[in-house]
Amino acid sequence: MKVNAYAALEPNGKLESYSYELDELGSEQVDIKVSYCGICHSDLSMINNEWGMTQYPIVPGHEIVGEVVAAGEEVKNVKIGDKVGLGWFSASCMSCHECMDGEHHLCLHNESTIVGRHGGFADYIRGHWLWAVPLPDGINLKKAGPLLCGGITVFNPIILADVKATDRVGVIGIGGLGHMALKFLNKWGCEVVAFSSNQDKKDLIIAMGATKVINSRDPEELESVTGSLNFILNTSNVSLDWGSFLTALTPKGKFHTVGAVLEPLAIPAFSLITGEKSVAGSPLGSPALTRTMLEFCVRHDIYPIVEEFPLTKVNEAMKHLEEGKARFRVVLKNQ
Ligand SMILES: [Zn+2]
Ligand SMILES: [Zn+2]
Repeated sequence: MKVNAYAALEPNGKLESYSYELDELGSEQVDIKVSYCGICHSDLSMINNEWGMTQYPIVPGHEIVGEVVAAGEEVKNVKIGDKVGLGWFSASCMSCHECMDGEHHLCLHNESTIVGRHGGFADYIRGHWLWAVPLPDGINLKKAGPLLCGGITVFNPIILADVKATDRVGVIGIGGLGHMALKFLNKWGCEVVAFSSNQDKKDLIIAMGATKVINSRDPEELESVTGSLNFILNTSNVSLDWGSFLTALTPKGKFHTVGAVLEPLAIPAFSLITGEKSVAGSPLGSPALTRTMLEFCVRHDIYPIVEEFPLTKVNEAMKHLEEGKARFRVVLKNQ
C-alpha cells in the first residue's frame, strides 16, 4: 500500500511531499487511516535530530486519531471501522516483565512511532494493535490527538504520585503539556497553582482552572507559596531554580518532571532529606491508563485548546509552533 506523507530529508529541513510503500500487514498489526494528527515538540526535536536518533527521511507525527482500515488475523481489542488513537509508541515486545505487568510504556524494546519508521503526518499509519487505543464514544476527534502524547504524559504523574482531590498542587510551564495538566488537576479536585513567566496568558490560565498564577522567575512570588504544595509537575524543558520549587513543597511533597530538561537538575539534598520530599520523572503512560484517561476526558469534557491546520499546510503549522505562537496545541487535519 502506498502512503502519502510529509517528510524532512535533513536536520532543520522543511517538510516535503513524500510517499512510501508499506509491505504486507503483520498478523498483529493494524493500518489506520489518519483523520487528525497533533504536532508535539518532540516532532520538532526529531526533525532537527536534537536527540541524535533521527533517521532521514523522517515522517513526524505521533498524536494520531483515525480509523482502523486493515487488521492482521491475530489482532485483538480493535477491529476494522473502530476509531483509535496512536501515540509515541507503536509496538511493544509483549513478553518482558514490564509488558507482562501492563506497563508497556516502560518496555525496553518498544518501537516508537517516529524513530526508525514513519509517523502520522500522512494519510495512513501502521502499528501494533496494543497501541491502537480505542477511543471512547462521544470523544471530540478533532481535539483528541494531543491527548495521546501530551495528555497521557501529564496524566500518568497524577496517578504515580497518588495525587488526592484535597491536595494543593503546582504546574510549571503552561504550554501544550502544562495547560492539559492544569485541566486534569482542576477536575481531579485540586487547588492548582500555575507557574508561568508569560503574564499575557494569565487570564486564560485562570479560566482553565488555576487558582493563581505565579511568575516563576520572581523569587518573591515563589516565596508566597513556600511549604504549601503537595505535588509539583514540571512541564518546562528549560533549567529553572529547582531548589526554590522544592521549598514550595509541603513535607512529603513530590516534585515530578516530564519536561525533558537537557542539563542535569540541580537538587539540594537537604531540602529532600529534611522534608522527606521526592523527585521523579516518567514517560507517557500505559495503553490501559491511556484508555482510562480518555474516558476521564469525555466524562469531564477535558480537551486541549487546539489550532487546526490542514495537513497540506504542515510547514506553516510547524513554523507557528517553532515561534512559540501555538495556543496551545496544533492539530493537522488530513483532508
Ligand atoms: Zn509527543
Ligand atoms: Zn516488553
